[in-house]
Amino acid sequence: MNPRLVVLTGAGISAESGLRTFRGNDGMWEHENIDDVCTPEGYYRDRKRVKDFYNFLRRGLKEHEPNAAHFALAELEKRLGNDFLLITQNVDDLHERAGSRKVLHMHGDLNRLTCERNPDHKFVFTEDETMDTVCPFCESMSRPDIVFFGEPPLYMDRIQDALRQCEEFVYIGTSSVVYPAAGFKSFAKSYGAKVTCLNLEVPENDPYTDICIQGKATEIVPRWCKAFK
Ligand code: NAD
Repeated sequence: MNPRLVVLTGAGISAESGLRTFRGNDGMWEHENIDDVCTPEGYYRDRKRVKDFYNFLRRGLKEHEPNAAHFALAELEKRLGNDFLLITQNVDDLHERAGSRKVLHMHGDLNRLTCERNPDHKFVFTEDETMDTVCPFCESMSRPDIVFFGEPPLYMDRIQDALRQCEEFVYIGTSSVVYPAAGFKSFAKSYGAKVTCLNLEVPENDPYTDICIQGKATEIVPRWCKAFK
């Protein structure tokens, strides 16, 4: 069944929980070279360095709590059931910890590992990954379940189906520059959806966005969710 409302979140929804955004001045990867820790080449050049980097990020999740925007979306999911689909570009677990049950982590999930040989093998993993950690299904070497630059995002078929059929598409806390997520608004619009943006900075004269609400996620998202009919 396809949802009436599709929501896409980005790093901005977690910013007030203290998790750094990607492009802000204090960006998440300021101390690491993205080519080293966020590309397949970097991973195969030095697996241990990359696993350690994501171990560090995974451990750090415990220091952050979901905020009012995460909770509001979890409440909306309870209210709308199958009429609601949440897609996130974030790899953190704040949506789940706020109570969201069905979250599509299109760029991967820090609390999951995948298999080097078979990317369909995914498993929950909340400890530190080592060079000895293996896939429980086939015993090949594991890797972080993170979509590196140049790799295809996850769940695209399901996402495209939902965007084609939804009545409204809302994007929250995302700079809309990372594709394919940045193209969801034009795609949904071309199939007739109303498109809404909730963000600290809103696009000017964007032909694909019908409504822009500017502000901090913890203020505007709960208000918007409450008003959604
Ligand atoms: P981005 O850093 O490119 O953009 C963040 C957007 O959020 C900006 O437009 C900014 O204006 C807005 N913003 C900042 N603070 C806000 C607030 N308090 N309320 C509302 N909006 C706010 O992030 P992106 O578009 O998600 O793309 C970057 C990529 O980096 C994504 O693929 C994501 O996977 C990854 N990332 C994930 C995390 C995480 O998991 N928490 C953190 C950083 C980056």
